[in-house]
Amino acid sequence: SVTDQAFVTLATDDVYCQGALVLGQSLRNHKTSRKLAVLITPEVSSGMRSVLSSVFDEVIEVSVLDSADSVHLALMQRPELGVTFTKLRCWTLTHYSKCVFMDADTLVLCNVDELFDREEFSAAPDSGWPDCFNSGVFVFRPSLKTYRLLLQFAAEHGSFDGGDQGLLNSFFSNWATADIGKHLPFLYNLSSSSVYTYVPAFNHFGRDAKVVHFLGATKPWNYKYNLQTKRVMQDDTTAESFHQLSFLALWWNIYSASILPLLE
Ligand code: UDP
Ligand code: MN
Repeated sequence: SVTDQAFVTLATDDVYCQGALVLGQSLRNHKTSRKLAVLITPEVSSGMRSVLSSVFDEVIEVSVLDSADSVHLALMQRPELGVTFTKLRCWTLTHYSKCVFMDADTLVLCNVDELFDREEFSAAPDSGWPDCFNSGVFVFRPSLKTYRLLLQFAAEHGSFDGGDQGLLNSFFSNWATADIGKHLPFLYNLSSSSVYTYVPAFNHFGRDAKVVHFLGATKPWNYKYNLQTKRVMQDDTTAESFHQLSFLALWWNIYSASILPLLE
């Protein structure tokens, strides 16, 4: 049934919560039939938690590292992976049978409930290295067994990129070759910056984009937005393409219309 399936995101601070809220609102706008869950860490303020609960069905606090885990000490040697391991906590949500994880810097452009037809582990190619998947959108099955195996793998092998993406790609290492059904179309994780690396493809396929991912250092909430003209303001050092700007404007439309009123 659909009530035991959920979209899951993560926000470890109030800044990333802004992204989570826009993502959650975009899923609501497109009438998802699944539950919405957000993982947060103790750092998230109480005010933000109550705003999150007006958009998400579940706000779940997790610790950055679980002291009860056998690999705790090994993980403590690698503090830079703290946020990474928080993402892995999504496998502990065993009251759901299947979930779709989405980064807090993603935005859905239409209903994407058909993602639940896919199996663990499904993800879209990474635009920088297409034999790797991008870990910003993936289908998984919560399981304490998988969770423990992931932590154990992390403690033993670390992550080749220092983040969750390297770790998950090493763990689900047959993704590239084993089952094409586990390759989500790129349209489900369209990195807004890759739009201009293959402009003809974007012009041809881009209208069917389903999920935009604002990956990279500059997130939508780092831009300035003019509430009157409804335009994202560019500074001189950045040269966002027209399409990137329209995706940013879409994010800001949702943020200003639906989220800002909740934060006031
Ligand atoms: N994240 C978080 N706090 C942080 C960094 C990351 O909550 O300080 C979460 C958030 O859900 C974010 C995801 O981890 O979307 C992955 O990080 P990010 O999107 O910044 O990485 P990128 O997609 O740019 O590689
Ligand atoms: Mn991201």
